[in-house]
Amino acid sequence: MGECIFCKIAAGEMGTLIYEDDAVVAFRDASPQAPTHVLIVPRRHVANVEALTPEDENLAGRMVLVAQRLARELGIAASGYRLVVNTNADGGQMVYHFHMHLLGGRALAPHMG
Ligand code: AMP
Repeated sequence: MGECIFCKIAAGEMGTLIYEDDAVVAFRDASPQAPTHVLIVPRRHVANVEALTPEDENLAGRMVLVAQRLARELGIAASGYRLVVNTNADGGQMVYHFHMHLLGGRALAPHMG
């Protein structure tokens, strides 16, 4: 997956990580849609939710807990935040390396697409 931009970021080859552990990294979105807009990304290349298997149960759980931790650290937990996972074309996925958006820092409009 040499051409995958999120693989490169996760490997520390570009960008700035604000969180990392053995399975997950996080960094700020290059085109933020809210005052706080962070992407939580597995180190291992997996395209999206559709590519997950039962073995990824812990990974998916880790990503949610990392989002919770970062929301608290970044000061948006009490005011509130949104976690978004876009999947395939109709879901609006642009980067095909699984990622979770953490959005907050302003009131987000009620939005179901
Ligand atoms: P999605 O539509 O869920 O695939 O969202 C992909 C997100 O990745 C978008 O919000 C982009 O702004 C963001 N993005 C793309 N390239 C980079 C990059 N090099 N560094 C940080 N964020 C990026």
